[in-house]
Amino acid sequence: MKILVLNAGSSSQKSCLYDLDGALPDIPPEPIWEASIDWTHHEGFAEIKVKPKHGKVLEEEIAATSRSEIITHMLETLWSGEDPVLKSPSEVDIIGHRVVHGGAEYRQSTIINDEVKEAIAKLAIFAPVHNPANLEGIIAAEKVFGNVPQVAVFDTAFHAHLAPAAYTYAIPTKYTEQGIRRYGFHGISHQYCRDRAASILNRKAEDLRLITCHLGNGCSLAAIRNGQSIDTTMGFTPLEGLVMGSRSGSIDAGILIHLLRQPDMDVEKLDRILNRESGLLGISGISADFRPVLKAIAEGNQQAQLAFDVYMHSLRSHIGSMLASLGGLDVLVFTAGVGENAPLVRERACAGFEFLGLKLDLDKNDQRLMDVDIAMPESLVRVLVIHTQEDWEIARECWHLK
Ligand code: ADP
Repeated sequence: MKILVLNAGSSSQKSCLYDLDGALPDIPPEPIWEASIDWTHHEGFAEIKVKPKHGKVLEEEIAATSRSEIITHMLETLWSGEDPVLKSPSEVDIIGHRVVHGGAEYRQSTIINDEVKEAIAKLAIFAPVHNPANLEGIIAAEKVFGNVPQVAVFDTAFHAHLAPAAYTYAIPTKYTEQGIRRYGFHGISHQYCRDRAASILNRKAEDLRLITCHLGNGCSLAAIRNGQSIDTTMGFTPLEGLVMGSRSGSIDAGILIHLLRQPDMDVEKLDRILNRESGLLGISGISADFRPVLKAIAEGNQQAQLAFDVYMHSLRSHIGSMLASLGGLDVLVFTAGVGENAPLVRERACAGFEFLGLKLDLDKNDQRLMDVDIAMPESLVRVLVIHTQEDWEIARECWHLK
């Protein structure tokens, strides 16, 4: 079965093609074709990169006219050019799209029809940057592949089983009735980590209490019991919860009221401050990327040290909050850019939880291994580092629906 995955973000569009033969493999296979478009790196141009499994990497820079034409151009490299992987577009069996917001209605992956497209468009009110980009990918793929079934895999769906007590904000009902509630995000990654963790430990996911820490540019935690997310740190938007690269995470809402009363403040500016100028970048003044911040700490930069300390304080206290929701912990998972590559973050995060009987193997933690258990054999909590594979999770959802 040939499964095409499209993963559209605000600044990039990534895509890959899996070729599955027989049963669904336990370990993610390598895609036979990968491609990406970067819309923002070079203003006025789209940078396209295409990587067939066997063949040459193609890199192109073309004038950014219509986004859908550029997506079409990227998809056409599947069966045209020097190293095509297909004879024709009709060889694709199913197409999966990452869709950021599925609202309260879409609680699982869904075959896309007109009604689903309308819902994705309507939900742009909650995800104004991402849902329109996701829809653009769906429409472009529809033009190229005609009647090939397409699936929407929602980033919110994994958190659809939160109880009202976990998803309701304590504001007047008049506002919660408008759909203002906690939705949670990164669901595709948290779900992948749940299953990969179970597979690494040779256990059933339903029998484990897990906290999955997705620490990338955006950061969120999920508390997973009986296979379901019962609590998470992101909320109505991806701004809530942990301190992130450039997002503030949870702050006293009174600060927003205070700032909005200032004469030079408006909503757009506040949005920019909280989403793009805060977090590690805001405190350190150096970068939203963890690496330069760590380098500055090594050189004795005090603000960088404070940024790290605030990040860790936020991470530990939110892990504590997830722990309270779960009532215990079997597995702690670290994933995404920071979670997979920063041993110091994992070490400091675990240091607060030794009272649970959690014992990290410091040597293993430093070895930069992937998809491994880095806890001591006697530890009462397993600690895993998992390379998240959201595209593969989207492909798996397609496989189940085909
Ligand atoms: P996104 O959330 O956009 O998918 P990633 O999961 O790729 O992002 O995470 C990106 C972040 O990972 C970078 O901003 C950087 O801070 C962090 N990162 C990557 N490699 C390292 C490393 N070796 N040490 C510390 N942080 C790293």
